[in-house]
Amino acid sequence: MKQFPKKLKILGVPYKVFYVNNLREADTEGKDEVFGSISHCDKIIKIYIKPPRPSEAIFITLIHEIIHAILNDAGLDFADEMREEHVIKTLASCFVSFLVDNKFVELPK
Ligand SMILES: [Zn+2]
Repeated sequence: MKQFPKKLKILGVPYKVFYVNNLREADTEGKDEVFGSISHCDKIIKIYIKPPRPSEAIFITLIHEIIHAILNDAGLDFADEMREEHVIKTLASCFVSFLVDNKFVELPK
């Protein structure tokens, strides 16, 4: 991949992805300072990319938000939000290292 995608289809649903240099701007609600967020209603994902943030970290955040979209679409509702975040963080990191280590993806430089 030469650059991170600005448009994604997740389970057939189109999403727009915005890459921002400000942690608060990375919150779709503009409330908190975050590395990434997703608006399930507006189908928007925002990812913090300000250098020197490594492309692997950016990719992990992107996959993280994609997993949020998938779980939301599947109607999988974790009763415990902290547990949901922990599960998604683990899955995102593991998927990215799997994809990169096995050369399924080459990250933008
Ligand atoms: Zn999350």
